[in-house]
Amino acid sequence: MRSAYVNGLYLPHGQAAVHIEDRGFQFADAVYEVIAVQHGHLIDREGHFDRLERSLSELDIPMPMTRRALNVVAAELLRRNSIRFGSLYIQVSRGTAPRDFPFPKDIQPTLVMTAKRLKPFDFTRQAVGVNVITIPDIRWKRCDIKSVGLLAGAMGKTRAQAAGAFEAWQVDDAGMITEGAASNAWIVTADGVLVTRHTDAFILAGITRQTILKLVADEGLGFEERAFSVAEAKGAREAFTSSSTAFIRPVVRIDGDAVGDGRPGPLCLKILELYGRYMEPRA
Ligand code: PLP
Repeated sequence: MRSAYVNGLYLPHGQAAVHIEDRGFQFADAVYEVIAVQHGHLIDREGHFDRLERSLSELDIPMPMTRRALNVVAAELLRRNSIRFGSLYIQVSRGTAPRDFPFPKDIQPTLVMTAKRLKPFDFTRQAVGVNVITIPDIRWKRCDIKSVGLLAGAMGKTRAQAAGAFEAWQVDDAGMITEGAASNAWIVTADGVLVTRHTDAFILAGITRQTILKLVADEGLGFEERAFSVAEAKGAREAFTSSSTAFIRPVVRIDGDAVGDGRPGPLCLKILELYGRYMEPRA
């Protein structure tokens, strides 16, 4: 039976619940992480824990338990659900308190973990090109905090789905692409430069993004971290998206316009290969 973890208990998934006055439910006063599981290992675990700690500290929510304890719970949850390939979801809310806007003091954070089985990383499946649409970025100005306030992203993904697209790339008031609804955005410019937006309060510093930049640097390949416009993306040679569970996907159309020759590009496929190799267990 599928198990979930809630505040110290492993429960049948269908019965796992939090209180109706949990602040995550009423105020989106909660943060989360999604970590890929490959060969039973949590990919980029420390990077995700670093970001979880940062999101919590920006909101003055204490860590619900040590990293060591989080690891123990994560491993036990994967074991109980017999998951070797999939994803782990961790959510921490400020806790439960009578509904009132100011942060209540001295309450216990709520910790929830769930795990889901997914197909193993498969290069051939990942290498299939996808379409994206562009939409206005209507989110708040602290997108660096991985909060569960995901309504704008949910609306964006719903629009993408209705348009037969994989993802919606969000565009700020200056016409620059910030990031996908649930992923970071990348292009290879017309003159061959790999570009992804710099990190600040307007995007989430993706862990996959960070790993890709490291892999690219290790290969001696160059890149630029800067904003790029919709027009530049449409005129790019290549484009792709990155996230922990969708990994890397080549983008072959933006708002229906072909990117480059309309097929996954060589640099994207090379990075995909590097990323696949990176997730293989190391001896
Ligand atoms: N940007 C947003 C808004 C996201 O929701 C996500 C992932 O869910 C990402 C970027 C990619 O981040 P990561 O690579 O850490 O999964």
